[in-house]
Amino acid sequence: MRKRILTGDRPTGKMHLGHYVGSLKNRVKLQDSYDQFVMIADVQALTDNFDNPQKVRDNIKEVLLDYLAVGIDPKKTTILIQSMIPEIAELTVFYLNLVTLERVLRNPTVKDEIKQKGFGQSLPAGFAMYPVSQAADITVFNADLVPVGEDQLPMVEQTREIVRKFNSLYGETFVEPKPLLGDVKRLPGIDGNAKMGKSLGNAIYLSDSEDELKKKVMRMYTDPTRIHPTDPGKVEGNPVFVYHEIFNPNKTEVEDLKMRYREGKVGDIEVKEKLFVALNAFLTPIREKRHEFEGKDELLNQILTEGTAKAREVAGETMKKVKRAMKIDYIR
Ligand code: ATP
Ligand code: MG
Repeated sequence: MRKRILTGDRPTGKMHLGHYVGSLKNRVKLQDSYDQFVMIADVQALTDNFDNPQKVRDNIKEVLLDYLAVGIDPKKTTILIQSMIPEIAELTVFYLNLVTLERVLRNPTVKDEIKQKGFGQSLPAGFAMYPVSQAADITVFNADLVPVGEDQLPMVEQTREIVRKFNSLYGETFVEPKPLLGDVKRLPGIDGNAKMGKSLGNAIYLSDSEDELKKKVMRMYTDPTRIHPTDPGKVEGNPVFVYHEIFNPNKTEVEDLKMRYREGKVGDIEVKEKLFVALNAFLTPIREKRHEFEGKDELLNQILTEGTAKAREVAGETMKKVKRAMKIDYIR
């Protein structure tokens, strides 16, 4: 039997370069050798967007188009919508007994996000608990591997803890899933923030037009201490160079730019113009593939319907095992 992958994305916006290097690239690579499930996590998106369901609804299609654009193939990968698998909600309720409030609130990613979103004294309980729901996402498919960005490592760790607890209380039922980081664990935003994020307004989207891309690259954060092109500049941690390293296949050009930047012999404009060319070459085929699927609503719906139906079968089987293990399979 092939090993299984589960991963997913929140339909809170279109997908960006961070998603590509953090997770999408691995999914495209691994869909041939794994039984892969990819989830559009609308229930999780609602934990901090419950007041804006239209946004979540609209972005389901955008995320699906982004998947298809980068080469996730629905013939190889099962694409599903989280809310259409009620077994996940059911399993979440059982898992909530296996974690303490204190443990959930210690999750460093959740802590950061609570701060960022400014919840203050009105933290929705659903948001605080989303790592538990994520444990249900992963284990309802009994996944071995979870390709994610670095911010998701605490979620996989939380899942492993829940699995250990469940197995020790109720008998061996689940495998402990392992995270798989991408080539780039955490891509910085164009504003210099440590993470590019949909909800942070600092992203280059896979579907950005050439014009949008150009504008974003030209206003990217660089070395704030450098005022004139003749000032020696800092390359390390400078997002423009971080992106060059990742997305510019012309390594000689990158080395030359780095050398001249350090010596104060190249302006930001030239560095950014060359980055634009590299990124545009990277994004052009993705953009084109996306256009092929845009407007084909019937096909898109079919992909989601078939994926969700297959996922539901697997989830149903898992819940039978769970209920037997928990001794709540009263009437068979
Ligand atoms: P939101 O701001 O709504 O949380 P997001 O940009 O963080 O959106 P998610 O849908 O939460 O996107 O994340 C989907 C996947 O992409 C996760 O595995 C996450 O770790 C990964 N990911 C997101 N941003 C980055 C990034 N900047 N670098 C690497 N991986 C990332
Ligand atoms: Mg996120």
